[in-house]
Amino acid sequence: MTEELFREDATLLECSARVLAVDPDGVRLDRTVFYPQGGGQAGDAGVLRLADDREFAVADTRKGALPGEIVHVLAPGANPDGLVPGASVTARIDAPRRRAHMRFHTATHLLCALVPHPVDGCSITERYARLDFHMNEPLDKELLSQGIAQLAAEAHPVRHRWISEAELDANPQLVRSMSVMPPRGQGRIRVLEIEGVDLQPCGGTHVANTADIGAVVVTKVEKKSAMTRRVVLGFADAAPRHV
Ligand SMILES: [Zn+2]
Repeated sequence: MTEELFREDATLLECSARVLAVDPDGVRLDRTVFYPQGGGQAGDAGVLRLADDREFAVADTRKGALPGEIVHVLAPGANPDGLVPGASVTARIDAPRRRAHMRFHTATHLLCALVPHPVDGCSITERYARLDFHMNEPLDKELLSQGIAQLAAEAHPVRHRWISEAELDANPQLVRSMSVMPPRGQGRIRVLEIEGVDLQPCGGTHVANTADIGAVVVTKVEKKSAMTRRVVLGFADAAPRHV
């Protein structure tokens, strides 16, 4: 099991950790700030740094085969020499990439509030986010962009808390997604609340206030099938990224 520091504080960019295991899939740590791909949100990239300053690029983060396992996937061709069980590392995420995920992810919650239909697909990346709604009514791109801008400007606080599985069972309307079910079996479910706007189970990373979403607009509305409308989000203030 890896301690999931990103669940309690999405603003952490780095942590110290100990290497538990290294195999061809990647590196497992005792604790991490790296979010593993899940719930539609892409995994983090970043670096693992040894005490002697040797750095290992992490290209992606995935869940392992066992519950609670987090695998830091090294960049192709990376030589993991020096990364051995017991080694101390500093694990640091790619901050601009994560920031993009957090802004988009929080914006998808606003979209859920604006479009009162079940979600049957979700993908959140560094450059765009898309949400598929199970519905056949048309959606207006400009009105949705305006709705997101308004909710963002209203500066609603965003916070998470944990509820019991029994509490979730008593409030099934909380579950908006048909494609991603909240993880069961740990006795508690993480819910994300955007005060006065949206409340639903979610394990992802979000900004702390809707004002921090910035300029996110709907770039496309698509009819994917008779009962699916896809909404794609982009940054209106997207600048070329210098790496
Ligand atoms: Zn979320």
